[in-house]
Amino acid sequence: MSDIYSWQQGIWQRLTQHGEFRSHALLLKGKKGIGKYDFARHLAKSLLCTAPAAGRKACGKCLSCGWFEQNGHPDFYQVMPQALSVDSAEQREKEEREEKSSSSTIKKTASQQISIEQIRKLTEFVYMTGHQNGYKIILIYPAEAINSAAANALLKKLEEPPENVLFILVAHQAQRLLPTIRSRCQQIAMPIPDIETAVAWLKQHAVNDPQASLAAASFSPLSALLLNKGENAVCYEQFIQQIADPNRLEPISLAAALQSIDLSTTVNWLQKWCYDLASYHITGKIRYHLKRLPAIQALSKQLDLHACIAFSRALNSKQQLSLHPLNPRLFLEEMFIDYMAMMRKNIKNSESQLILKNSNV
Ligand SMILES: [Zn+2]
Repeated sequence: MSDIYSWQQGIWQRLTQHGEFRSHALLLKGKKGIGKYDFARHLAKSLLCTAPAAGRKACGKCLSCGWFEQNGHPDFYQVMPQALSVDSAEQREKEEREEKSSSSTIKKTASQQISIEQIRKLTEFVYMTGHQNGYKIILIYPAEAINSAAANALLKKLEEPPENVLFILVAHQAQRLLPTIRSRCQQIAMPIPDIETAVAWLKQHAVNDPQASLAAASFSPLSALLLNKGENAVCYEQFIQQIADPNRLEPISLAAALQSIDLSTTVNWLQKWCYDLASYHITGKIRYHLKRLPAIQALSKQLDLHACIAFSRALNSKQQLSLHPLNPRLFLEEMFIDYMAMMRKNIKNSESQLILKNSNV
């Protein structure tokens, strides 16, 4: 585990050294991709560390730090949707094998929600005696993935907090949590790095064209890194190539290729793309896809602005639904088919306008 991010030093000091930490439940909130989850883990590790170093940082040497690094600390409990958990890749493989063995089976995908069973399991951890007679820490990520039954179960625990238990909730969209949960937490707005700091950080991580990558990732450095490395980078490239060429878009294969990454990320990619299409059409400027300007210019010429805005509004609703889809693959297929219909309609409109124009001549 590396050190906390440079843009988090101030909030770290205020929380750990200046006594601003005053609750049995913290809510770390802020946009996706700015390092909230890593910060939460650093905080948990340092509170559990038996010999904290300068700045209240975890020593990285004691038994407690060792357990933490191996994901085996008895006083630390992490709750996240099955789709995000460490063994989700293993789970997917198992499901794929099952799917192959029975062609009529509808594919089940790992849950994007935090269920009531997961919150119930906390009870034993919360009420049993702490291993080291210090804190017992529960990290919930992302907190807005808690479904409503689970939220009520959690609320009960927050209302009657057991001694020495600290809840750390991490949320990208804190407004989607129950107000009663929010009000029982000390809410901490997590800092976003300025562009200069974020670009410097991306350069350290050998990201090519960090400025463009940062823009494509809504100015969140960790998301920008993900767009350049690993599975997400491959998926993003596939996504952007097909979306930028709606005539060659294949909704079914694209949905299949993207189902392994979380749905709200994909919806967000398409939201940003449509934002740039509309923005270029109106103002001649784009915000996110600096490297794709020629494609956006070409598509923008034939864009039906009203249809694009209506589609973007529909995407906002899709974003709300993305945590609770019945079938993620169908959800994506439908979204791409709608996008393609919107773009092709525009092309048809502009073609028929051209024909009309020519016939008038
Ligand atoms: Zn330690």
